[in-house]
Amino acid sequence: MKFISTRGNAPELDFQDVIITGLANDGGLYVPEAWPRIGPERIRSFAGRPYCDVAYEVMAPFVDGTIDDVVFKDILAQSYASFNHPAVVPLREMRPNEWILELFHGPTFAFKDVALQVLARLIDHVLEKRNTHATIVVATSGDTGGAAIEAFKGRNRIDIFVLHPHDRVSEVQRRQMTTAGADNIHNIALEGTFDDCQQLVKAMFNHPAFRQAHQLSGVNSINWARIMAQIVYYFTSASSLGAPDRKMRFCVPTGNFGDIYAGFAAAKMGLPIDRLTIATNINDILVRAVKTGRYEVLGVTPTASPSMDIQVSSTFERLLFDAVGREGASVLHMMNSLNQSGSFTINPDALSYIANNFDAIRTDEDETLKTMHEVYVTSGEMIDPHTAVALAGARAGGHSDAIPNIILSTAHPAKFPDAVEKATGARPLMPAQLSALLDLEEHFSVLPNDLETVEGFIEANARSTTSHD
Ligand SMILES: *Cc1c(COP(=O)(O)O)cnc(C)c1O
Repeated sequence: MKFISTRGNAPELDFQDVIITGLANDGGLYVPEAWPRIGPERIRSFAGRPYCDVAYEVMAPFVDGTIDDVVFKDILAQSYASFNHPAVVPLREMRPNEWILELFHGPTFAFKDVALQVLARLIDHVLEKRNTHATIVVATSGDTGGAAIEAFKGRNRIDIFVLHPHDRVSEVQRRQMTTAGADNIHNIALEGTFDDCQQLVKAMFNHPAFRQAHQLSGVNSINWARIMAQIVYYFTSASSLGAPDRKMRFCVPTGNFGDIYAGFAAAKMGLPIDRLTIATNINDILVRAVKTGRYEVLGVTPTASPSMDIQVSSTFERLLFDAVGREGASVLHMMNSLNQSGSFTINPDALSYIANNFDAIRTDEDETLKTMHEVYVTSGEMIDPHTAVALAGARAGGHSDAIPNIILSTAHPAKFPDAVEKATGARPLMPAQLSALLDLEEHFSVLPNDLETVEGFIEANARSTTSHD
């Protein structure tokens, strides 16, 4: 299978090159040139099968033989063995036809583990095969950094630099990043927002000399393998609730649009989905864009769900690409406008394409806490603020008794103990792996929001250069 850029002006790549490359060199994102199909019989056969087996079947058409089958199956087995639940991503019923899909049983208690455990092993394998090194730069609003560090720490062929917005991540999130204690891990606390972090990462990718010299590679949701690994749980959860013979709804707490885009990909591959609901906190650029056709960057306001405190949702570009009939030039036009004026307009056809697939609902801070409180008093369960945004969105959207509503739960409540306590009056029990972080020494460098300074820091600390043979 070939992968093409959403901006229509970068070389077509195969799977291995796509995962090593991250961002396309025309500034676009890679997508498969055509959507592979999974027929109803196969979807039916997924019910009750081990997660790992279904993962292989869903991902194999993208990998398309570029990774040896035995190696790939082994990578999947190792990746999901790091999860502390036998179902990997268990479903829990909250109310009739309302299900919580728990994606947080990985080593860092956030859904990012589901994809990064796989992606790290894939990248390592390809670098090993090619006998080369890479430098990974990653922007994080909180959870990607910890999950990437956990997945990449100690790997010989990779240096990883993680940019997080200084003082805008939770203490647990920060400690997960800064206490890894491996010398291939470098933490940058950037004086800015997540969008500033993401902007710098993109700028480094768009700086050819720097990108080449350090063999830059990206593991944000710009990397196709992240999306690919996330498609799997749409199939497993839906098949276990009766797909393809019933349609499903999914409601997804959304920031960079990677997780919900994987749901769109699942639909493209043949999974019958009734609606995909984009749930945001008060940083609601996507809700405004889907309702009005105007994508306009406003300021970011910190909330109790920091992993969604985002204005520029990178992966939305992939949806736009399909929405404009896969015309790279149209996507480029919108993205240029975004760079120049901080906004663009989605044309009416593209907007109705989006509206046919997605709902979008914003939940404010009060409602988020109220939802956490209500779940706690009715069930005794705690949910994290990101999950609460999605659950509130799903409930506000109303629901039909005939259609199961699957709410993606993206973080363990113990990662956000202050918000949970504020909402419920009780503090979540800390898993031992998280409380152990409190005693470890932290390593990070506070840097200004300045491309040259950050590039200089990477220059000074990376081991990888093109001189490696
Ligand atoms: C990353 C993250 C999200 C948002 O996912 P996107 O793929 O960026 O839309 C939501 N919740 C949590 C806890 C996250 O870590």
